[in-house]
Amino acid sequence: MPADPLTATTGYGRFAPSPSGDLHLGNLRTALLAWLFARSTGRGFLMRVEDLDRVRPGAAERQLEDLAALGLDWDPPVEWQSRRLPLYRHAIEELTAAGLTYECFCTRKEIQQAVTAPHGPLGSYPGTCRDLTEQERDQRRAAGRPAALRLRADRGEFTVTDVLLGEYRGPVDDLVLRRGDGTPAYNLAVVVDDAEAGIDQVVRGDDLLPSTPRQAYLATLLHLPVPQYAHVPLVLNSTGARLAKRDGAVTLRDRIALGETPRSVLKLLAASLGYGDADTPGALLEQFRPENLPREPWSLDPNGLLQPS
Ligand code: GLU
Repeated sequence: MPADPLTATTGYGRFAPSPSGDLHLGNLRTALLAWLFARSTGRGFLMRVEDLDRVRPGAAERQLEDLAALGLDWDPPVEWQSRRLPLYRHAIEELTAAGLTYECFCTRKEIQQAVTAPHGPLGSYPGTCRDLTEQERDQRRAAGRPAALRLRADRGEFTVTDVLLGEYRGPVDDLVLRRGDGTPAYNLAVVVDDAEAGIDQVVRGDDLLPSTPRQAYLATLLHLPVPQYAHVPLVLNSTGARLAKRDGAVTLRDRIALGETPRSVLKLLAASLGYGDADTPGALLEQFRPENLPREPWSLDPNGLLQPS
C-alpha cells in the first residue's frame, strides 16, 4: 500500500458500474471523481462491468458510451464480471480449503426473523447454519434447499482507512460468498477483481462504505492487498433521498434531449465539485485537489440545477 495514496504513481483506479440502466448524474459524478483521483495520481484507469446480476440488455454499452461522451477515457480492455467466473470459483475454493466457508440453507425470511447474533452488528447473519452437523446438512440438501456459501468470519468488525473520511470501523459478518443460485456475491467478486487487475485505489459512492470493512477483511483472508478507498458523497434529489431515475431528467441522454450537451453536463458536474469554470475532464484535472472536495451530498433541484444542499 503506498504511504500517500494521493501521490502514488503506480496502480489503477476504476469505475465499476452495474448495467441495470442508464447512469444518472450521481453515477456520472462518481465516475468523474474516480477518473480524477486516478489520473491526478498518475494511475491508470480501468472500467469493469459488474454484470453478475441486475443486467438490462444493452445497458453496459450505453453506460460506456455516456462516459466516453463526457470525455472520460480508460485503459482497455473493459472487464466483464460474467466472463471471470473461474477467478471467483478459485477464490471460493481457496477459502473453502482453509476451512473458511460453510453452506447456508436459510431463506431470507428466516434470517430476518432470527434473533441477531448476541455480539453481531444489527442485521448481521445470526449464524444459524454455521455449526450444522454433517447429518443436518444432508437433511437440508435432501429437502432440496439451495445452499448459499458463507464466509466463516472470525471477527465482528474490521477497520479501513478512507482517504476522505479517515478511519472507518464497521461490521464484518458471515457474508455470502456464493448465492443459492450459484452466482458469486458482489463482495467476493469486487475483492477478487480489484486485486487481480492491480487496482489499488477504489473511489465510489459512500453508500458502499458499510460494505468496505467486509471487503477489506475478505481481501486479507485471500492474502490480497487492500486498496486505498475514497468514498464520495452521493447526489440527492430535492427531498433529500438518493437520486434515482424517477427524479426526472437525470441521465445524460435525458439532458441531451432537453437541449444540453455532454460538455454542459460535464460543466454542471464540475460545478458541483467546486470547479465552476471547467468544462472538460482535462481542464478539471488541472485544478483538481481531492482535499478541497465538498464532503456533503449535493441536491439536484427540481429545475435540474445542481445546488449545495
Ligand atoms: N457495481 C457497483 C454499483 O454500481 C459499484 C461497486 C464498486 O464500486 O465497488 O453500485
